[in-house]
Amino acid sequence: MEQISCQVLVVGAGPGGYVAAIRAAQLGLDTVIVEGDKAGGTCLIRGCIPSKAIIHAAEKFESLKSHQEGHMGLKVDGSVSIEMSDLIDWKNNIVEKLNKGVEGLLKGNGARLVKGWAHFLDGKTCNVTDSNGNKIAHISTENVILATGSEPIELPFMPYDEKYVISSTGALDLEELPEKIAVIGGGYIGLELGCALRKLGVEITVIEGLENIASIFDGELRRPLERWLKKNSVKVLTNCMAKGVEIIGNEVKLSWTNVDGEENSDIFDKVLVTVGRKPNTQGWGIEEMGIKLDKDGRFVSVDSQCRTNMRGIYAIGDLIGEPMLAHKASAQGEMVAEIISGEKRDFNPVAIPAIVFTEPEIVTVGMDQLEAEAEGEEVIVGKFPLAANGRALTLEAEKTGGFIRVVARKSDHVILGIQAVGSHVAELSGAFILALEMGSLLEDIAGTIHAHPTMTESFHEAVLKTLGHAIHSL
Ligand code: FAD
Repeated sequence: MEQISCQVLVVGAGPGGYVAAIRAAQLGLDTVIVEGDKAGGTCLIRGCIPSKAIIHAAEKFESLKSHQEGHMGLKVDGSVSIEMSDLIDWKNNIVEKLNKGVEGLLKGNGARLVKGWAHFLDGKTCNVTDSNGNKIAHISTENVILATGSEPIELPFMPYDEKYVISSTGALDLEELPEKIAVIGGGYIGLELGCALRKLGVEITVIEGLENIASIFDGELRRPLERWLKKNSVKVLTNCMAKGVEIIGNEVKLSWTNVDGEENSDIFDKVLVTVGRKPNTQGWGIEEMGIKLDKDGRFVSVDSQCRTNMRGIYAIGDLIGEPMLAHKASAQGEMVAEIISGEKRDFNPVAIPAIVFTEPEIVTVGMDQLEAEAEGEEVIVGKFPLAANGRALTLEAEKTGGFIRVVARKSDHVILGIQAVGSHVAELSGAFILALEMGSLLEDIAGTIHAHPTMTESFHEAVLKTLGHAIHSL
């Protein structure tokens, strides 16, 4: 067994851990990163990237099909078909490139990647075992960055078998396209995958326990998505709780109860369970390290510098709480590496952007009107429809009925939040978050010349609308 000692030991090479390791190595710290699966973590291997690859392929398929009857003067003669195994190969190829890219970046920056599972003996030492349980390394370190991420929550009465009851991981590896799928949980992961599978021709039923799907958004933001789902015959059953599954032959019978407690059931090819994710707090020696969890006992508890209760031990990313997003994990990873190297840093962003890649896409940055008012702010709000933006029309992005909405403080016009819904709006999130992080006033954006013809002009116009004088909207 190899003996290794280092200044920084990072556990988990997801977007939190690998960024932390790269930054620590860039800062001249002797850095080791341990990863039991593949470098890239949930995000690159079985999350953000593979899901967006499949979403893109589904969009292309839908678009090609729309040309079968002739559209825009473009006509596809003959059939448009899907070869799922080729689609999955194409997706895997992207994942593979990114995995190798991360490994190359770690190496190129001087961080050593040890492939295996870390298990801590105490706060500063761990053993690493390979997938067969053989001990391959013993590591002692001055500092630890825990970035073990999260995994899909399993419903105890319908455990994943990845054949009939599948997780998001299984949904990203479907070698054959099922005819009919039930999606349990109308959160962002279920809806993104549900929209993509619908575009690929799968019949979708969404079962959601709450009153609304995508319930973290207000009704106005949700509406274009709800309209798309309805128009595309996605069955959405809200206020319904999944109760159990029974495998019958090659199919699965799913039962659920509705708001009145009445039991219903239907037959599907697969049931995709997307009821949330839980942090990986078990199996790597949290007790041996003496690390405390938060008051709900769910996430590792940290302060604003991502320090745990134990000296020299930091935790980042999905392991420490919401929002469980890759860019939050990376920002924390970078910050912790800089803190260890002696810089004064604090995790205190004005906002963390959140995007849902459904059809249409939804972006939120900062506070919406209700949230701002709950904070005691008096606000002004302006909304600009994508249908009034020339570029949106050329991209057919207006078809999903989207808009951009700006919330600003009434007294001094500081922008407090921006929300957008519509096709392609994800790419506008950079402009939105920059505006918030820079503390922009409405007048700053109003006085910025936005290039024509781009959809960014609708952000400019939404700001003008908030000021009461949009040019292309009454
Ligand atoms: P992870 O990425 O989960 O990485 C943790 C790593 O630690 C894993 O590789 C794991 O193998 C390793 N590990 C765990 N324990 C040990 C141990 N003991 N020893 C060694 N290694 C260990 N986020 C977005 O921002 N945008 C999106 O569009 C988006 N889409 C998503 C789509 C899906 C389908 C899913 C499932 C997630 C999506 N996410 C998205 C969420 C995103 O993937 C996570 O927020 C992000 O990966 C968290 O990064 P992390 O570094 O904290 O942990």
